Amino acid sequence: MSAPKNVEISSNMLALFGGAKSIIQDFKKYNPIGVEEVEAAKKVVESGVLSQFIGAWHKDFYGGPKVLEFESECAKYFGVKHAITVNSWTSGLIAAVGALGIEPGDEVIVPPWTMSASAAAILHWNAIPVFADIDPNTFNLDPSSVEKNITPYTKAIMSVDIFGQSANMDVLMKLASKHNLKVISDSAQSPGAKYNGKFAGTLADIGGYSLNYHKHIHTGEGGILVTNDDTYAQRLKLIRNHAESVVEGMGVENLANMIGHNFRLGEIECAIGIEQLKKLNGFIESRQAIAEKLNEGLKGLVGLQTPVVQEGASHVYYVYPLILDAKQLGVSRDRIWEALSAEGVPVSKSYQNIHLLPIFQKKIAYGSKGFPWNLGVSHREVDYGKGICPVAENFNDSSYLGFGMCVYDLREDDVAQIVSAFHKVWASRELLS
Ligand SMILES: *Cc1c(COP(=O)(O)O)cnc(C)c1O
Repeated sequence: MSAPKNVEISSNMLALFGGAKSIIQDFKKYNPIGVEEVEAAKKVVESGVLSQFIGAWHKDFYGGPKVLEFESECAKYFGVKHAITVNSWTSGLIAAVGALGIEPGDEVIVPPWTMSASAAAILHWNAIPVFADIDPNTFNLDPSSVEKNITPYTKAIMSVDIFGQSANMDVLMKLASKHNLKVISDSAQSPGAKYNGKFAGTLADIGGYSLNYHKHIHTGEGGILVTNDDTYAQRLKLIRNHAESVVEGMGVENLANMIGHNFRLGEIECAIGIEQLKKLNGFIESRQAIAEKLNEGLKGLVGLQTPVVQEGASHVYYVYPLILDAKQLGVSRDRIWEALSAEGVPVSKSYQNIHLLPIFQKKIAYGSKGFPWNLGVSHREVDYGKGICPVAENFNDSSYLGFGMCVYDLREDDVAQIVSAFHKVWASRELLS
């Protein structure tokens, strides 16, 4: 067993076995909010106008000054015709599915490695989520698995730009156009990531980003929808704001899915969002610099794969994902995770496999009797059994490790300690098997 030269095995007993922990300090929490946001919020509070939306056909149907300003700044930044704010990205996803005209019983293909909201947004229109597997390097939808899951009922693909990089949109969009499918990009985790010169989220029919406090930039809660399509933009705004009582005045004839919600984002949040957007590039650069340091430090550890970034794409590292080859290493992922955790490394050993949630396993969503799966429209039985997404499942079962990069504001010396903890664990790995 070869250990890195600078690691002395004898004096380096693993914390798991009672040795000293590699990391003793607390990491600084990630907090992107600064004085600019405080000032911006204060001005709105002082103005007394905390929201200016009206849920009727009226000039204020589109919201107040900060909503309009933030939307215009977002449209400029992301290079799209329309940016539309919503009170959460979950609301944004629901609005997107509705705006595309998805009908009850339609199938929408979604990956299992995402937040549950991606699939729940499909169910909210009584459509049926179908899970396709993920790519073994990028964790994003695998187009070949998407193709295998297309049926006569499929109407859309919800692609998720997981962990900070765009899905393979060239291939997905071609596939969608071949089968006449709509595409939604859930880029909650990837604002600012590039794909062939364009922003992640902007390559689909409708895409967008989360502004919840776990993400790169935030307004507490919130979301931004982006689209280049005028009709979708109008339908998104209607679903955001009480469509049913607006369509008549607006002269909208297509009433499909014009059941509105109140998904409106407030003036304070939009004022904060304007300041956050100005800082996004800087935040991304610092996450990328930390990821670069991790890449350098972890390079060459046997059986460990650092993040793979697609050709022509950039990664904004919402999560820094690692893949462990337990066979090559001779130690299970779970033992490595135990040893790293004991050293104080803030690493997790699983992400979501949302097809395995009780809602899908039991097919109980609306009411208790299997709706919408048993809706009665010409329909097949959709399988959610373990085994439908082997790549995603194997990651959770045996090979994934990841750092949440918007949990702690990691500094270079934090990274140095994390890296040395990895080397310490690797050097003593024979003791773990
Ligand atoms: C955070 C997140 C969401 C939900 O966003 P909210 O703003 O919290 O509603 C949806 N999808 C993914 C992939 C996410 O990471």
